[in-house]
Amino acid sequence: MTAGFTYRAPTRRDELLALLGEYGERARVLAGGTDLLTDVRTGLARPAVVVDVKRVEGYRDLVWSGDRGLVIRPGVSINDVLHDDRVGAAYPLLVACAADLASHQIRNRATVIGNVVNASPCADMAPALLCLGARAVLSSHDGRREVPFAEFFTGPKRTVLRPDELLEEVVVPPESAGARGSYRKLKRIKGHDLGIVGVAAMAQDGLLRLGISSAAPTPVLVDGLSTRAPAEEVVAAAQAAISPISDVRCTREYRSHMVGVYVRRALAELGEVA
Ligand SMILES: Cc1cc2nc3c(=O)[nH]c(=O)nc-3n(C[C@H](O)[C@H](O)[C@H](O)COP(=O)(O)OP(=O)(O)OC[C@H]3O[C@@H](n4cnc5c(N)ncnc54)[C@H](O)[C@@H]3O)c2cc1C
Repeated sequence: MTAGFTYRAPTRRDELLALLGEYGERARVLAGGTDLLTDVRTGLARPAVVVDVKRVEGYRDLVWSGDRGLVIRPGVSINDVLHDDRVGAAYPLLVACAADLASHQIRNRATVIGNVVNASPCADMAPALLCLGARAVLSSHDGRREVPFAEFFTGPKRTVLRPDELLEEVVVPPESAGARGSYRKLKRIKGHDLGIVGVAAMAQDGLLRLGISSAAPTPVLVDGLSTRAPAEEVVAAAQAAISPISDVRCTREYRSHMVGVYVRRALAELGEVA
């Protein structure tokens, strides 16, 4: 199939944002292309213009800042995060989720930002970013706004991002640095596969957060839990927050059950089981 789009690869940020402003819904941003090019091939996406972000100066950088924490730019791949020692030391949950996303080859192309903009309910980076209290910086030709990831996902493959906006930065706050984390993903096979359910758990200063994937129309954050709460209470809170469906991979009852199993295992791994 011939996709028939125009390819643009601006090297300046203002040029990129101007293109998105000019073409709006007719443009699609290209990062690693592991989701977008599949959608173009199957006809799910029919952009008139594809705007590659990777040539803009600084967009492949992981940036550290004292007051903002870790800043992930549009061209940063999953493997960039996975193999960065500083990220591993400060945000082990981010690395645990990155390690379970697809294969080494896909992780070389796939970006963190493409994963969250694609907004699949099973996106592996979403549970970590929800637990870590990360924020999305959305930029357009006429301004910039910040949205916490807890408000970013609005439905399957839907987010608050406007067609003229770029997700320019994912900001992981310094307050979450050093938090202990665990990610458990149920798959049909032992190799790389999309998750049937995924449970991330983060514990810090007596507070516990869960990020759950593949168990609701969007990735789910369960916040406000205590690390001293009995496991039963944590499992009940997780199961109350999800709304799983039955599909070709399993039933909703099995998804709900496995969320409970994985919450318990994550608590045990973190040493938080009551
Ligand atoms: C074989 C295979 C296995 C996979 N396994 C997994 C898996 O196990 N877990 C998982 O979570 N995913 C998996 N995926 C999905 C995919 O690899 C990820 O979602 C990936 O992180 C997407 O990033 P990308 O850079 O390739 O995005 P792209 O395909 O380039 O873009 C994805 C979407 O985001 C938009 N976009 C990208 N960057 C921006 C930006 N900065 N601002 C605005 N919009 C933007 C694009 O227009 C597009 O709509 C798999 C894919 C394949 C092909």
